[in-house]
Amino acid sequence: MNTSSIRTIRRAKITQKTDANVTLSVIVPFYNEQDVLPKFHRRLTATLDDLLLQSEIIYIDDGSTDKSRSIVESFSLSSSLVRCISLSRNFGKESAMSAGLKYSQGEAIIVIDADLQDPPELIPNLIDKWLEGYDIVNMRRSDRLGESWLKRFSAACFYKLLNSIAKLEVPENVGDFRLLNREVVDHINQLPERNRYMKGIFSWPGFKQTSISFQRDARFCGETKWNYLKLLGLAVDGITSFSIRPLRIATIAGALTALSAFIYGSFIVIKTVFIGDPVSGYPSIMVIQLALGGIQLLCIGLMGEYIGRIFIETKQRPLYLIQSIHEQPTKKQIVKLGHTA
Ligand code: UDP
Ligand code: MG
Repeated sequence: MNTSSIRTIRRAKITQKTDANVTLSVIVPFYNEQDVLPKFHRRLTATLDDLLLQSEIIYIDDGSTDKSRSIVESFSLSSSLVRCISLSRNFGKESAMSAGLKYSQGEAIIVIDADLQDPPELIPNLIDKWLEGYDIVNMRRSDRLGESWLKRFSAACFYKLLNSIAKLEVPENVGDFRLLNREVVDHINQLPERNRYMKGIFSWPGFKQTSISFQRDARFCGETKWNYLKLLGLAVDGITSFSIRPLRIATIAGALTALSAFIYGSFIVIKTVFIGDPVSGYPSIMVIQLALGGIQLLCIGLMGEYIGRIFIETKQRPLYLIQSIHEQPTKKQIVKLGHTA
């Protein structure tokens, strides 16, 4: 299908407003965000109301232990359908997003953080790009306010490493805030894997992509849920879920080490035969011993990372468990109910 017919179809979907058809789904995973959620909801619904699209907001409560869930369930009516899907515990943002994608019905799907770091007012810009025919619209952070230089530097190094190691183009400085076309989401929903590094999974299907730059605000309140240890875990997940190249590097390193050991071993044998063996060489033995031990442990650890992931995949446990789904009817539906009564 060419771009102009895609545009025509998408524009038609916007104008053809039937109650059954949801055009836009906004997925909001949240975990303990009670202080920011009311303001976030106000800004999001104001934006969606102006858009005049048939839209739904899917809040995913990722096992919050504060009042976030009751706050979301008490949100006043807007012209969008508001749903709160509560997971039975904290499964992590990647699983929460997967749940949101599974339950979304829209033709265009937007994932956005609840902490107001991703401004909801930019949603119309994403929709414009979608109407132009793009299947994925990435939101590239031009500025990462409120983040330390160490986080920015380590993020930059990680993306360079991931993109060089994996045969994948994960855009740098793009978080989870993005728009996906229904077709892309249907493909993502069919991916069976349990190790879900979503930034990689979003890029994996390919399709027609574009990026919009935006200034990422600082968190409205509260603290990031990611410490350095969690980020390191996410980085290892990202690399191991999309590439087996580290294993290949380990094989090459092993082969080079074995070759060097053979050359050095031959040298020692020849030296002993022709010159003799004046019992010395303790420092060199220690250095070789430690270097080999280190390389071996590193390679075993690396294999362990992959075996661990095979173990998780073979168990086939669900990504998340849903405890409840709370649905808020739209204003339109309320009016209809009033009519029939
Ligand atoms: N989040 C979540 N589950 C978690 C951690 C975070 O649903 O286990 C949500 C969080 O409430 C927020 C979004 O994911 O809406 C981004 O989290 P955060 O701001 O901590 O990450 P950062 O912006 O620092 O990358
Ligand atoms: Mg944040």
